[in-house]
Amino acid sequence: MALIVQKYGGTSVGTVERIQAVAQRVKATVAAGHSVVVVVSAMGKTTDGLVKLAADITNQPSRREMDMLLSTGEQVSIALLTMALHAQGQEAISLTGAQVGIVTEAEHTRARILKIKTDRLQRHLSEGKVIVVAGFQGISQTSDLEITTLGRGGSDTSAVALAAALGAEKCEIYTDVPGILTTDPRLVPEAQLMEEITSDEMLELASLGAKVLHPRAVEIARNYGVTLVVRSSWTDEPGTRVISPRPQPRPLEGLELAHPVDAVEFDTDQAKVALLRIPDRPGIAARLFGELASQALNVDLIIQSIHEGNTNDIAFTMVKANLAKAEAVAEAIGPALRSNPTDTTQAEVMVDQRMAKISIAGAGMIGRPGVAAKMFSSLAAAGINIQLISTSEVKVSCTIDVADCDRAIAVLCEAFEVTSSPVPQGNSLQTQAPAPEVRGAALDIKQARVAIRHVPDRPGMAAQIFQLLATHGVSVDMIIQSQRCRLVNGQATRDIAFTVAQADAQTAKAVVESAAAELGFGDVAVDEAIAKVSVVGTGMIYAPGVAARMFKALSEQGINLQMIATSEIKISCVVAEAEGVAALRAVHNAFGLAGLKRTVVPA
Ligand code: ADP
Ligand code: ASP
Ligand code: MG
Repeated sequence: MALIVQKYGGTSVGTVERIQAVAQRVKATVAAGHSVVVVVSAMGKTTDGLVKLAADITNQPSRREMDMLLSTGEQVSIALLTMALHAQGQEAISLTGAQVGIVTEAEHTRARILKIKTDRLQRHLSEGKVIVVAGFQGISQTSDLEITTLGRGGSDTSAVALAAALGAEKCEIYTDVPGILTTDPRLVPEAQLMEEITSDEMLELASLGAKVLHPRAVEIARNYGVTLVVRSSWTDEPGTRVISPRPQPRPLEGLELAHPVDAVEFDTDQAKVALLRIPDRPGIAARLFGELASQALNVDLIIQSIHEGNTNDIAFTMVKANLAKAEAVAEAIGPALRSNPTDTTQAEVMVDQRMAKISIAGAGMIGRPGVAAKMFSSLAAAGINIQLISTSEVKVSCTIDVADCDRAIAVLCEAFEVTSSPVPQGNSLQTQAPAPEVRGAALDIKQARVAIRHVPDRPGMAAQIFQLLATHGVSVDMIIQSQRCRLVNGQATRDIAFTVAQADAQTAKAVVESAAAELGFGDVAVDEAIAKVSVVGTGMIYAPGVAARMFKALSEQGINLQMIATSEIKISCVVAEAEGVAALRAVHNAFGLAGLKRTVVPA
């Protein structure tokens, strides 16, 4: 007899009829011989409604009281679902997070799960009862027992954590779409259902705006090897499997606080080409990377950021063997990129062979602002200057001088208590089909961009900025440190731009501005009207031209790229918010993700 954890989202328990339908499905699972733990969300849009009520009273509600308020939503659904099970003759009991013993940090509104006590669950299971657990909530273990919540969308995380703690055979996430699709079907009706996706890809997609799964749920599934399936509440179709590598054994204590970093990776076979001062208009990245792709030159990192005077810098890295050809492509294109023929500030090409890429990798860094900061400060403490920075949800990569590489590896391994490994080769996961270049696309419109001008180019600057943001609880998303150095009062400076959640934008600005005088940088600009469009796929590591295709699709729509950041398995572009949905559609189309079928999404 297997134990199955099933989670039902808000729409799935949105009405009495739907609750009854859920009860039937649960009962059928029991009838098939399984033990069942059910996790439910608040009914329909209850949580949004509660957030709005709070906002009607104050624009700065206490985080503790928000938890007190929002946790009520799930309590309603566990009681009603349990009554529905009773009415169908199924023994069941409802439990709040506190009653189960879902112990979290005392961090209100975004608590991480520390451990889950399983004794009471085991007892009720052995009594033959279905247990209905309130998702999204827990209890802190401080002397005052405090109700906490895990952050919006956190019921997925409750479910996967319960599955890990109980050693369940699988965790099924039931929702209002048929599974994980190539993108959000509400924005792109042609989106197609996938049969499977790797947990690395899903981590990226979830963090880049695909809210079908909470990223932390994917992280736990990946770390503990939980079998995870996303499927429809309305049908019996199998849905989508999220495939994880075989996990290293981990203790269940400190469940979500496990090592944030699994490995330090390095690559000394890299070289960099940078194009400076290219005009800020659509189509330039498309042309550059299109030309590189047509010569089968695969690029690794791509970083682009805008500067004052409306020109851009684009830097990219590749294996050293391709440097000469890539430089020739860039040189050939450079003069044609002059924004204005009479302009004397011409685009310029720079190359660097004396560089290495060093990365920290691990699923545990999601939403943990201190991790990247710790990488930067460890490098700074060793006097190592960071050139380019590129971040993804599961990786932070920096380019440094190759002479510093060995020392960088040593300090990072020590700081994160891991051993180093060279850059991993290949996809070791047992997926059934070969990994596609692009598995899915996502849009995040709830982002803002913060740009800091003229940051002195010396070790420790990135460290101080991101440490400061981390102490103020601001999670930074895409960080781009530009290639271009500019002399300001005789001091070499670079610009640093990053994206944050819109809700954190003003805090981020204030925090950074408060340090401007002391650290010696220029003004801080915030743009809230941006959107980030991304494509994700493990297969893109080996496929030249993926970036070129994305940039071309966007430029054909006349969409300008404000920032570009890539990691091994994703490419993200920042565009104007108003163009976000068009950008998502264009990209989704360009990679042939659109199927013929329209996905029916219930209202
Ligand atoms: P639940 O209440 O069941 O947790 P959510 O609203 O949190 O449901 O997540 C499901 C929604 O996620 C879908 O209705 C869909 O609009 C959205 N979504 C975004 N990206 C994707 C994607 N790639 N695949 C499926 N759904 C997606
Ligand atoms: N009810 C919570 C929310 O709306 C948690 C969840 O549904 O996962 O964010
Ligand atoms: Mg959800």
